[in-house]
Amino acid sequence: MKKLTLISLAVLFSATVNAQDTPKPEETEVWEPEPKVITAPGMGKAPSDAILLFDGSNLNEWISAKDGSAAKWEVKDGILTVVPGTGDIQTKRTFGDFQLHIEWRSPDEPNRKGQDKGNSGIFMQGRYEVQVLNSYENRTYSNGQAASIYKQHIPLVNATSKPGDWNTYDIIYTAPRFRKNGSLERPAYITVLHNGVVVQNHVEIHGTTEYIGAPKYIAHGKGPIVLQDHSNPVSYRNIWIREM
Ligand code: MG
Repeated sequence: MKKLTLISLAVLFSATVNAQDTPKPEETEVWEPEPKVITAPGMGKAPSDAILLFDGSNLNEWISAKDGSAAKWEVKDGILTVVPGTGDIQTKRTFGDFQLHIEWRSPDEPNRKGQDKGNSGIFMQGRYEVQVLNSYENRTYSNGQAASIYKQHIPLVNATSKPGDWNTYDIIYTAPRFRKNGSLERPAYITVLHNGVVVQNHVEIHGTTEYIGAPKYIAHGKGPIVLQDHSNPVSYRNIWIREM
């Protein structure tokens, strides 16, 4: 009798403990913060929370990178085109981590080749270049072709559109972090989709884009988007950015 009672108590106790320990689905639900509701009209189209950097109408968001004067590239029929010799342009705003959408088209330059054919570029925070180049049947060094992280990372594939067609880049960029003493805490990372295809998958940026020599990191804060004048009349349209 005594033994049975002990067993009964043990069973009861065990059942009670188990009931208390049984995990509930609610314990792993997180309700705050609630993601902001936006409208996203689809691939390539600016979501409602994007900053429109170029919507086809004007260069109000841009200045000359050289001296901060008005940007001198051509805006015509909703398209922005490099005017060779006028220099790089940059956004008035500066950015840290972001998602950038940008569309570009190579000029018709049948007599040019390699790095001289449709060269431009998009610099994250004014320092780290995603190459823009007419890489349609135009061989150059692989880490300098379209969608390369210039001189740092070869794109996984060459997704360049045929001449006359537009290209899209969707870029997800995580800025580098620096310690108070200026040393690098964490490098920048970048993911690039070229015409919807992943060509750079969260690769580490090794430092500033350098034509000659090794990249390096010098501490900085937020920076602009810079578009490169490399003497080729490359065109751009539909440029928008979302800060993260
Ligand atoms: Mg370039």
